[in-house]
Amino acid sequence: MEDGAFESVDFVREKVEHDIESQRFGGRVQTRFPPEPNGFLHVGHAKSIYLNFGIASEYGGVCFLRFDDTNPETEDTSFVDAIQEDLEWLGVTPAGEAKYASDYFGQLYDWAEVLINKGLAFVDDQDAETISEQRGGFGQPGVESPYRDRSIEENLGLFRGMRDGLFADGEKVLRARIDMQADNMWLRDPVLYRIRRIPHHRTGTDWIIYPTYDWAHGQSDAIEGVTHSICTLEFADHRPLYEWCLSHLDLPGDTPEQTEFARLNITHTVLSKRILRTLVEEGHVSGWDDAQMPTVRGMRRRGYPAGALQAFVDRVGVAKSNSTVEVELLESFVRDDLNASAPRRMAAVNPVKVVITNWPTGEVEWMEVANHPQNPDAGTRLVPFSGEVYIEQDDFRMEPPPKYYRLTPGREVRLRNAYLVTAVDAEVDADGNVVQVNCTYDPETKGGNAPDGRKVKSTMHWVSAEHALDATVHQYNRLFSDSHPGSDGADPLESLNPNAHQIFNAKVEPALGEVEPGQVVQFERLGYFAADLDDATVFHRTVGLRDEWANIQKRKKN
Ligand code: ATP
Ligand code: MG
Repeated sequence: MEDGAFESVDFVREKVEHDIESQRFGGRVQTRFPPEPNGFLHVGHAKSIYLNFGIASEYGGVCFLRFDDTNPETEDTSFVDAIQEDLEWLGVTPAGEAKYASDYFGQLYDWAEVLINKGLAFVDDQDAETISEQRGGFGQPGVESPYRDRSIEENLGLFRGMRDGLFADGEKVLRARIDMQADNMWLRDPVLYRIRRIPHHRTGTDWIIYPTYDWAHGQSDAIEGVTHSICTLEFADHRPLYEWCLSHLDLPGDTPEQTEFARLNITHTVLSKRILRTLVEEGHVSGWDDAQMPTVRGMRRRGYPAGALQAFVDRVGVAKSNSTVEVELLESFVRDDLNASAPRRMAAVNPVKVVITNWPTGEVEWMEVANHPQNPDAGTRLVPFSGEVYIEQDDFRMEPPPKYYRLTPGREVRLRNAYLVTAVDAEVDADGNVVQVNCTYDPETKGGNAPDGRKVKSTMHWVSAEHALDATVHQYNRLFSDSHPGSDGADPLESLNPNAHQIFNAKVEPALGEVEPGQVVQFERLGYFAADLDDATVFHRTVGLRDEWANIQKRKKN
């Protein structure tokens, strides 16, 4: 890094810099992002992605995408494709073609025989339950398997028999032969291979034995030439096993080193694939790409820019112990990004019609309105104004509560970029709902200012009725009411917010007829809204206008 001398770097980068200096790995840097293709990527994965790809690019290294596809039961090519699409959207480019742990099944098998030949692995005939019971626990001794001392020849014969289909699923496993009394549970003769007659999405029926995560991961790193194998803290306990496996394979040169960092946790958010899957399967959301999901696809539909996700994870940084970040911080990065980029538009959500009784019948005036108040380069557009406009129901009250400065009979307000109008009366239906507000306008106030300098207390947005387009607006509140859903052993689904999602009709200005799917605009006074990826007459509220994060920081200081 050019200005590395002035910037303090996190502990992972520190380690990388140290290794470059000492010419470990010949000064090379190679990282990888290793998803299991059994679900969609979420914002937690984005953190790992930006860390791994970021380190590679900052230090002149490379980062590969490797699918950790060792469990055919839950994995599928559809996830492989989706993960690659999501990476592209996040703006990272893996070095070369995607890699697959399944490409190494042959080498992994051969290395398992190497262990057997060294007396470091054995075939166990016991079932999974017995093996797990014998593992013991912390401070509780492990029990050695009665099959632990089989001869090398017998083990080789049985392991080949496992591969060649001589045994039923679950009848035998291959285990490392390490130490049943090790303090680290992962060293208590962990399972390396299981028999599973399940076709694999890439290797089909070539294999009926599959390596476990622990046998596949470090060896895949070594095959690819990974230098820094960066993963989340829950794998810290696996590190001695990672190192044990590599140390017994007589590999040339420096073997990869595992480094763990704290996973990303966000308030009011669940980042467990299992629970996200339950949300989808039980219909709490419409799919993995629902705008309420913390998945990359969900956030994309919601209108979160990839750049905001990257800025957010950079700001959160890399830590050695787990913590939870406020979701408002993420939203403030999204808001800052959109504030700079999103064109301004007008939309009336839950509209009510306003009739301007002294407007010349049939006349339409086209107002030239800036697309972005701080950025003249964003240009202007023409917005039609006429004798009937829509405003929001919330912007009119027959009987105003205290401190209500918006429209009410007898009061003058500004219709932004148009005229000052004064409400006269309103028409109400049998249920007491206001169905039409009648106003007069002052023709001397074009642009919204009175020549006599009189002031009004509020400025409202509006949409010409004759020119308005119909739209549907999805409003979102927190999906989980609890700030830490699932903490203290609770079921996170119990804190699902029943009011998380509301749908409203809206009238929007004609320029929104040209919005691109996925484009985000600011609806003035309301927030940022993303046109749906499949139907651009549907808008998802991305984030509101107010910076809740700043408020939280202020409250913390007081
Ligand atoms: P599981 O293994 O339970 O299916 P996972 O979320 O760990 O779920 P993987 O596909 O194994 O899914 O994850 C790929 C990479 O992303 C791993 O290196 C993992 O450590 C990292 N990762 C997953 N969740 C987070 C998170 N919340 N914060 C940071 N990194 C994460
Ligand atoms: Mg995992």
